[in-house]
Amino acid sequence: PNIRQKPLRLHGTEQHLAWVEFVKLAATYSTVNLGQGFPDFPPPDFLKEAFTRALSGEKHMLHQYTRAFGHPPLVKILAQLFGKLLGRELDPMTNVMVTVGAYQALFCCFQAFVDEGDEVIIIEPFFDCYEPMVKMAGGTPVFIPLRPKAPKDGKLMSSADWQLDPAELASKFSERTKAIVLNSPNNPLGKVFSREELELIADLCVKHDALCISDEVYEWLVYDGKEHVRIASLRGMWDRTVSIGSAGKTFSVTGWKVGWTVGPNRLLQHLRTMHQNSVYHCATAAQEVVAQGFQREFERYGKPDSYFVQLPKEMQQKRDQLVQSLVAVGMKPIIPEGTYFLVADISEFKSDVPDVPNSDEPYDSRFAKWMVKNKGLAAIPLSAFYCGPHKNNYNSFIRFCFAKEEATLKAADDILQKWKLEKTTP
Ligand code: PMP
Ligand code: GLN
Repeated sequence: PNIRQKPLRLHGTEQHLAWVEFVKLAATYSTVNLGQGFPDFPPPDFLKEAFTRALSGEKHMLHQYTRAFGHPPLVKILAQLFGKLLGRELDPMTNVMVTVGAYQALFCCFQAFVDEGDEVIIIEPFFDCYEPMVKMAGGTPVFIPLRPKAPKDGKLMSSADWQLDPAELASKFSERTKAIVLNSPNNPLGKVFSREELELIADLCVKHDALCISDEVYEWLVYDGKEHVRIASLRGMWDRTVSIGSAGKTFSVTGWKVGWTVGPNRLLQHLRTMHQNSVYHCATAAQEVVAQGFQREFERYGKPDSYFVQLPKEMQQKRDQLVQSLVAVGMKPIIPEGTYFLVADISEFKSDVPDVPNSDEPYDSRFAKWMVKNKGLAAIPLSAFYCGPHKNNYNSFIRFCFAKEEATLKAADDILQKWKLEKTTP
């Protein structure tokens, strides 16, 4: 073997994910950071207190290894809660597996299910790690875009206006299709797929005997009374779906890196093989505390003092606040139905950052870099959520994260207002 050659598995996957570059830029320039998706507000007190108790309490075994596929209290409560949500009895030991964040759950799925030559359908714009993960497993990603429909009456666009073309979607399925990745609520658009849209996807999965890897990390962050429909609950889908969740998004603790998969044992057995031969298990204490958080939420499900009820309410206000700031300066936000994120059209700002014809870098990427350096405001270009050949298809949009403290959103508003003033007073 040639030790100076790039490992074959890494070919075509080595391009840095946008995060590496944009996280560094945000850290270098003194910025208001609405880039990477994490809350800068504290997690709920009940969870912080539970962590303190877990670390300093009598149960010193919480500092030691636990069961590989999930700390028993956590898989038990996840099985109870998701069993209720999916309307079926779940076995905590075989229908649930805990992972190091949703990220590792995704990695396990692609490694476990994708063979050399298999195709995996990915809906654009998509959370960027799907593409390299499919390729690393030897698979071929097949992309299908959500296409925007102009809203009526000059209204602001909604993430619901970005839709799949049913015929185009059907044309992507073939005998080579192993799986489709679904991400609802979707990062970056905030689109919450409707029941009809999910049924369309489900019917194609059943027809072509394909799997569904359903990334539902934003499942509790849905606004305006919209319903989050779990595709695993649709007819014919339980048996072919792995649903993925994240404690990071659920309890505003992205640094804990606790995630999970829920699905039939027939699929989860392969995830367990991947997991036991890679990370083995994730931090015991974090799992214990997440279990306590879920226990609390299970008891309060749907009640006003539930975090799953309170958080989306607060987040919806933050969304509306950022929408107002952006509208006031002439950026056109696409109103998200869910998630931490909001995508805005920056076309009106093109005169501030002129286009460079024939540049390799998409316009929105240069715009976002310019904005960090010159305005001290960090966001992520939408092109980061498209595959290489499609990066210029929608390149005048940037994504803002609004999971932020009041003070951070106010600081962003100050920057935008000042910018507008500079534009209007030459
Ligand atoms: N999927 C999506 C759509 C995401 O936005 C993220 C980012 N957090 C993840 C998966 C990874 O989640 P985690 O932080 O739990 O690894
Ligand atoms: N999911 C978060 C986002 O979309 C964080 C991504 C990451 O750190 N890789 O911003």
